[in-house]
Amino acid sequence: MLRVTDHAKRTDTGRRRSGNEDSHFVRSPLFVIADGMGGAQAGEVASRTAIEAFAAGLPDGPGSDEERLAAVVADANGRIHELAGSDEHLTGMGTTLTAAYVGLDDLAVAHVGDSRLYRFRDGELQQLTDDHSLVGELVRRGQLSEREAEDHPQRSIITRALGPEDHVIVDHHTWPVVDGDVFLLCSDGLTDMVADPRIEATIAQAATLGGAADALVAAANEAGGRDNITVILFRVETVDAPAVGEQHTLVGRTAPTTAEVRSAAATADAQRSEPVAVRAPRAPRGPAQAGRRPRRWAGALKGLTVLLILVALVGSGAWIASRSAYFVGSDEQGFVTLYQGVPYSLPGLPLYQEQYTSGLPTATLPSRVQGLVTEHKLRSQQDAVDLVRQLERGTVAGQ
Ligand code: MG
Repeated sequence: MLRVTDHAKRTDTGRRRSGNEDSHFVRSPLFVIADGMGGAQAGEVASRTAIEAFAAGLPDGPGSDEERLAAVVADANGRIHELAGSDEHLTGMGTTLTAAYVGLDDLAVAHVGDSRLYRFRDGELQQLTDDHSLVGELVRRGQLSEREAEDHPQRSIITRALGPEDHVIVDHHTWPVVDGDVFLLCSDGLTDMVADPRIEATIAQAATLGGAADALVAAANEAGGRDNITVILFRVETVDAPAVGEQHTLVGRTAPTTAEVRSAAATADAQRSEPVAVRAPRAPRGPAQAGRRPRRWAGALKGLTVLLILVALVGSGAWIASRSAYFVGSDEQGFVTLYQGVPYSLPGLPLYQEQYTSGLPTATLPSRVQGLVTEHKLRSQQDAVDLVRQLERGTVAGQ
């Protein structure tokens, strides 16, 4: 299964525009970018309205991730179109939108317009979305070269956007992901100013995603900063998931519970009483060696060995638990979150990490249901995912 290990976002007005009509939404594993267009503040309204359609996250229901993502985009189109028709100041407004969702096993994408999604893998950058722009169409038909497109005077004309029509065709796709893939979502304020090879080199050279995001915005501004610049970068890694048919609730003897980890740690710290531990098989001592070693050193050595074994047992138990168990809780912002690990930290070593954050605020749940989130009960991955999905759907008993 996949996990987003790191992400960074930056948005900048650029050097020519007075306002920023780009909008973005980042709630890992969902990342969205929108670039609005229209008179006065209309572009800002359009891109913000598009982003707001994702406030509740990716809804559950029938269909694949990419289909449900595309449905949210189509819904956003309806909202923008309706809003544009209700206020003369907003007439004709529109926005691009590119949304990426890291699912359990792959990346789902929905896209309209000329904001872009790139994948950076093994030092190489590849654009994954087609530009719905005049020059983009001409390049795909072979009537214009990539090089000619870069400086084309009509490159800002887009052929598809959210808002202008009551119906829009949404491109959607699912991409396989390889461990360590980095994805870039960006508005044309970056790509009109900075060519792909420079973007590739910038990501390759940066020590962190935040550093890469800063450098990309700086490069666009140094090149003139003619438009608003927004970039979102995220890195995905693959982690082991329980094999199908072997998913089970890791409570009791299968995996150490929080209490067992705590108790074992306390025992290791105290090392007062004779610990009950499995002793590692020991090679028989040579007679000469055994004969020369003073007994008190042998006793100290034995104690140290037992301590090391105990620490190793606690460490490996904690590690196994943190890789195998899941629980549901609230993140720091109060949203229902799926965690991998156990709800406990050893000194300097948290034994859990976020797997998925829903758009569902825990505080909005009925008090009877909140217990399911706050009890931090260890579950199998499937059980934990099912619980989060049920909470999102509002189908938990009592909701
Ligand atoms: Mg733009």
